[in-house]
Amino acid sequence: MDFAISEKMKVIVQMIDEFVENELIPLEPEFINSDFSEMLPALREKQAMVKQMELWAPGFPADCGGMGLNLVELGLVSEALGRTPLGHFVFWCQAPDAGNVEILHMYGSGEQKEQYLKPLVRGDIRSCFSMTEVDMPGSNPVMLETTAVKEGGDYVINGHKWYTTAADGSEFAIVMAVTDPAAPVYLQASMIIVPTDTPGFNLVRNIPIMGHEGDDYASHAEILYQSCRVPQKNLLGPEGQGFAIAQERLGPGRIHHCMRWLGVCRRAFDLMCARANERVISPDGKRLGTRQMVRQWIADSAAEIQAARLMTLHAAWRIDNEGAKTARDDISMIKYMVANTMQRVVDRAIQVYGGLGMTDDTILAYFYRHERAARIYDGADEVHKMSVAKRILRSYEGKTVR
Ligand SMILES: Cc1cc2nc3c(=O)[nH]c(=O)nc-3n(C[C@H](O)[C@H](O)[C@H](O)COP(=O)(O)OP(=O)(O)OC[C@H]3O[C@@H](n4cnc5c(N)ncnc54)[C@H](O)[C@@H]3O)c2cc1C
Repeated sequence: MDFAISEKMKVIVQMIDEFVENELIPLEPEFINSDFSEMLPALREKQAMVKQMELWAPGFPADCGGMGLNLVELGLVSEALGRTPLGHFVFWCQAPDAGNVEILHMYGSGEQKEQYLKPLVRGDIRSCFSMTEVDMPGSNPVMLETTAVKEGGDYVINGHKWYTTAADGSEFAIVMAVTDPAAPVYLQASMIIVPTDTPGFNLVRNIPIMGHEGDDYASHAEILYQSCRVPQKNLLGPEGQGFAIAQERLGPGRIHHCMRWLGVCRRAFDLMCARANERVISPDGKRLGTRQMVRQWIADSAAEIQAARLMTLHAAWRIDNEGAKTARDDISMIKYMVANTMQRVVDRAIQVYGGLGMTDDTILAYFYRHERAARIYDGADEVHKMSVAKRILRSYEGKTVR
């Protein structure tokens, strides 16, 4: 395996680094202190610049208008963009749209591609993914209560979902619902496209996260599907294949997330080091960075970020070369490894900043609030650890170890 960065990618990553530094980081104070919808005009301007630079939709397939980067390449882009919470949205490779584009590209009918995929890749519309339910454990997604019952030429959907990220302002949701309760458990559910203006699609509220309910793209909705009727042609992929498709969506999606989290690490680490060098903490002019404890945080963070990064690039390389199924343990391991590395690095950076770290005068507190969820979504850490350990133990069964 070869992690050397091609000349093409070096140029792209440098362009992105400069754009993030000069165009996006200056918008952060306003972003932290206003509603997302108020930011949209400014963000649209930046998106137009990204299109002109021909860096639009880096992870989306080339045949539907994206740059068609492979996973390792997209990982590098994602890391550069992750330094700011605005990066992925402005370059149009943000969750949950990125995963939805993948599914529509692989499984969408011709009509679905025209109606949903193309405008989504262009950035004309947004979408959301509605799987987790209020009363069922998201960690065991085969336990779904939402049903889609065939009636006439339609599916009639009933269920209570939440944590449907970015539903507010989305054009459509991809909904996981049970279409055949009598089938074997992994074949019971299907994915169905539901336009959000369908009667019976009821967005109850944006759920407050760490004290902030958010709006528009930056939100997580609770949704009641109440006799929500859509034509059967809105089925996405084969009936009963919802879980299989969701698995395909999640593998590469975890690489995107992990590389974004590594971008968060990089930003927090840069801030921590800069502050350690600048902050004078004694009358004789000694700086914070002269203290052994701070140096240990910096040394540990550097090593942990490096380890997490190499593991993630390796997992991306394995997916690209050997497929997501072969790489499933690698994918699980980076999920909890990187999420926890990010949490520790952001926490240490806040500690180095002292009281200032708790304010919204730096981006650190925003990261602390919003990235805590990394240990929960895309499979809680504990679920990944259970599966990794189970497979490892199975590989030792019957082996004599001396
Ligand atoms: C910010 C955010 C955004 C999200 N976006 C979306 C979205 O866009 N669409 C969507 O459908 N969902 C989304 N989710 C939901 C997310 O996927 C679920 O929260 C996650 O799958 C966990 O499910 P749960 O919350 O029901 O927790 P539960 O399943 O109730 O689990 C609670 C805890 O129990 C432990 N646990 C559970 N099972 C096991 C096990 N087998 N072994 C050991 N420990 C276990 C874990 O510690 C876990 O954290 C989002 C969540 C968050 C926080």
